Amino acid sequence: MKHKLFVLSGPSGVGKGTLANMIRLRNPDIALSISCTTREKREGEKDGVDYFFLTKEEFLRRANAGLFYEYSEHFDNFYGTPKDYVEKTLEEKNVLLEIDVNGGELVKAQRPDAVLIFLKAPSVEALRERLIRRNTESFDKIEKRLARLEYEYSLEKDYDYSVVNDDLEEAYEELIKIIGKESEKE
Ligand code: 5GP
Repeated sequence: MKHKLFVLSGPSGVGKGTLANMIRLRNPDIALSISCTTREKREGEKDGVDYFFLTKEEFLRRANAGLFYEYSEHFDNFYGTPKDYVEKTLEEKNVLLEIDVNGGELVKAQRPDAVLIFLKAPSVEALRERLIRRNTESFDKIEKRLARLEYEYSLEKDYDYSVVNDDLEEAYEELIKIIGKESEKE
């Protein structure tokens, strides 16, 4: 059976990282792709596990060589999806990409068979609270992220599915259902 590529996207702080992690931990048949980034490691993060942490020079070299499905610069750092890592993993199992909303569209342009899932918060207020509670960013950066929200939500229409993350377990179940249903299709 051919394995499928799933893309989980949504505005910052909507919980896609948490959900992607739950999917990875509970489903050995789904691999979570690892992106490359130039941003600094946060406490507890590991190279080759959370991200492949690259220097800006190395990242741009790979980008120019066409080694990413997509990459983008936001909040002064680059993020990219490595083609070889995704392709190699797809030989063995379904792959889930957890990327920003622009990234999802770019992947779909190159891989029309990819299934795009848009994760959203029940309300902007809930999202603001979540970003502040996470407390890894300065107030300025949080405001910058919130300013992007409107634009990010405008891309929802290009996605195959929308899932509201109100209750984490319910959102998880919905995602697993989508992945199961799509995996059965040819
Ligand atoms: P963070 O710095 O919080 O880990 O991630 C910041 C943003 O980068 C998140 O919205 C995350 O989904 C996005 N991101 C992570 N990996 C990729 C990637 O490979 N490509 C793109 N375009 N965005 C990514």
